[in-house]
Amino acid sequence: QKEEWNKLKDAKTVTKDGKHFDLAANIGTPKDLSSVHDNGAEAVGLYRTEFLYMDSSDFPTEEDQFNAYKKVLEGMDGSPVVVRTMDIGGDKKLPYLDLPDEMNPFLGYRALRISLSQLGEGMFRTQLRALLRASVYGELRIMFPMVATLQEFRAAKKMYNEERQKLIDQGYGVSNSIQLGIMIEIPASAVLADRFAKEVDFFSIGTNDLIQYTMAADRMNEQVSYLYQPYNPAILRLVKNVVDAAHKEGKWTGMCGEMAGDQIAVPLLMGIGLDEFSMSATSILKTRSLMKKLDTEKMQELANRALNDCDTVDEVIALVEEYVG
Ligand code: PEP
Ligand code: MG
Repeated sequence: QKEEWNKLKDAKTVTKDGKHFDLAANIGTPKDLSSVHDNGAEAVGLYRTEFLYMDSSDFPTEEDQFNAYKKVLEGMDGSPVVVRTMDIGGDKKLPYLDLPDEMNPFLGYRALRISLSQLGEGMFRTQLRALLRASVYGELRIMFPMVATLQEFRAAKKMYNEERQKLIDQGYGVSNSIQLGIMIEIPASAVLADRFAKEVDFFSIGTNDLIQYTMAADRMNEQVSYLYQPYNPAILRLVKNVVDAAHKEGKWTGMCGEMAGDQIAVPLLMGIGLDEFSMSATSILKTRSLMKKLDTEKMQELANRALNDCDTVDEVIALVEEYVG
């Protein structure tokens, strides 16, 4: 099996009927690039930049960040790189940033909420500048985490445009083709995807959080892990709503949560029409191998049945087994 996967390393991801899907990798630092290449990823679908902040004893400077982003963009040699702006707070604390203790950190002050607040705005603008300066070294896409409302996206985009203009006025080169997208990981934005799709360039569905918030089940809590259900028809319908909304506006949708590399979920997601699958690099070859064996039209039929006829996770799993074997 390993041998068969290795043969797929330099191949594009194509289904039995010739349809292409983008298989991308999730990374945390520039060091992860070797594994991205070893496993034949076609892009970086999620660069979790918070490690830059967590592995440091003080705020990373604009220069530190610029160097890290440049390294990743150059390392990908023109293939797309989706960089997520800082997703700190929640369970990710920084020793040098005084965040208040909270009753419900996952429902609290985290990610874009920090970036848009007085405390975080300076850090956020520094990160945007570093990203914009690095953008000339590759195909950069910037993504904001934990977006709940359109106002948040508009506020972040405004800061981005301001920093962009400042850099241009200062004589820096900045790419003209940077896409600006959002993570869909809060049910409100999944429901309102049709409105978001008019303003963003792309979506990436963060199922790790989206499932937690939709099912009201803490992703870290063993006692409620039975409710953590990626194949629940409620989750599948949210995903479909997002994909359809994006396509209606000519935009693309990826997924960067664990579900994107899950071998039962992949056939369903292909049928729903997800455009890009981003996962840990080590899952890429087995997913490429699975997709190669599947027919898109048949997966569409599978997805329609799962979305319309299934009540429970067990029914969905049985259906996938019937179609995929
Ligand atoms: C997610 O929520 O699915 C995601 C990709 O982000 P993280 O796991 O970093 O919260
Ligand atoms: Mg998340």
